[in-house]
Amino acid sequence: MPTMPASLHVSSHPLVAHKLAILRDKRTEPKQFRELVRELTWLLGYEAMADLALQPQRIETPLEPMEAQRLEPRVGLIPILRAGLGMVDAMLELLPTAEVWHIGLYRDERTLKPVEYYNKLPDAATVQVCLILDPMLATGGSSAATVDILKQWGAARVKQLSLIAAPEGVRTLSSAHPDVDIHVGALDSHLNERGYIVPGLGDAGDRQFGTFAGPASEPGHGPDDATAEVVRRLQRDLRDG
Ligand code: URA
Repeated sequence: MPTMPASLHVSSHPLVAHKLAILRDKRTEPKQFRELVRELTWLLGYEAMADLALQPQRIETPLEPMEAQRLEPRVGLIPILRAGLGMVDAMLELLPTAEVWHIGLYRDERTLKPVEYYNKLPDAATVQVCLILDPMLATGGSSAATVDILKQWGAARVKQLSLIAAPEGVRTLSSAHPDVDIHVGALDSHLNERGYIVPGLGDAGDRQFGTFAGPASEPGHGPDDATAEVVRRLQRDLRDG
């Protein structure tokens, strides 16, 4: 395994490992898969929020006044469509006042490069901390492009939350944005020639939403040359540092 950056945080919690094992299992049906995505997002989101700043607030308990602590920054959740949608509700349960901003990027099937098709961010940033939600950090292209957009918007701090990451994706994101903390449940072996994480769990969108339409959505379905070339380039970059 190539050396990974200090910005990568892989959870060592046994509950995360246990839930990931069930999530990855190909026999796990969409209903249970969605429940697990939610539970894993709670656990990983809790870890990812551990360094948020606090500010003192004077309150009164039924017994006496005290100086309590409230979260200082406003937080924005940015799900990468479509698989990131399954992580939003869980994060809103942890952070009910978080704002949810949608940025639509799709991965060009041939080049694996992100193409932006939806972005309604207001002119000035309304949050200080942005949390990008994507169950699978695969090539890292969508995340790096989303961070570009969020930084340009004025977000002071950006974090990435993923259930599973590939080393290639971690490298792409951390090389482009070394200041972005990457919180994941597991770091897997590599990307295959179709850009799927191995061993991974297959297509996180299809498995959540039950959209197993045909061969094109099946991991391992014959690589096309352009996609395979992009993955080979990412693997070369990773190997050569
Ligand atoms: N997206 C997925 O859903 N799965 C992968 O393995 C890679 C990208």
